[in-house]
Amino acid sequence: MYLLLLLTVLGTTHGLDIVSRDEWGARAPIYVDPMSNPVPYVVIHHSAEPAVCYTKEDCIEAMQTMQDMHQIDNGWVDIGYSFAVGGDGNAYEGRGWSAVGAHAPGYNDRSIGICVIGNWMEALPSEQQLQTVHELIAYGVELGMISGSYGLIGHRQAKETLCPGDQLYEEITTWEHYIQV
Ligand SMILES: [Zn+2]
Repeated sequence: MYLLLLLTVLGTTHGLDIVSRDEWGARAPIYVDPMSNPVPYVVIHHSAEPAVCYTKEDCIEAMQTMQDMHQIDNGWVDIGYSFAVGGDGNAYEGRGWSAVGAHAPGYNDRSIGICVIGNWMEALPSEQQLQTVHELIAYGVELGMISGSYGLIGHRQAKETLCPGDQLYEEITTWEHYIQV
């Protein structure tokens, strides 16, 4: 009985829910460029547009909007990010753990790019949204997809951009794996 209780507790330690591409209605990628894991970097982004979403329904719409922007408007093979995290506390699968992304020059083939949906120039994401980012990274390390000694950067460290927003950038500089490059 104690063992069952322990297993139940362990099984719920991370409440991470990754919404699959099927679940958010993603179009198939035009092409998948395989990436080697574990990757040594994590790159944090904001979407700027679309704005933060607080329900699964709205976050699904945000994912579809971003895929349209990247795949149709920009002519890329797929949504650019590896994953996105919504204000609903869910993580959303983009290109996933093992496909080269299109989000940060110099890092696309050796990082997981995580878009924190919303504009974080003037405001910070909620604790719940940030917690999901931490859980997603921890899960990637647990799966062997992200190196345990990974370095974490903001998009603005890879190119001239406001991304991931002043407030979110300041926040991630306090995270344990943040590095200056
Ligand atoms: Zn970015």
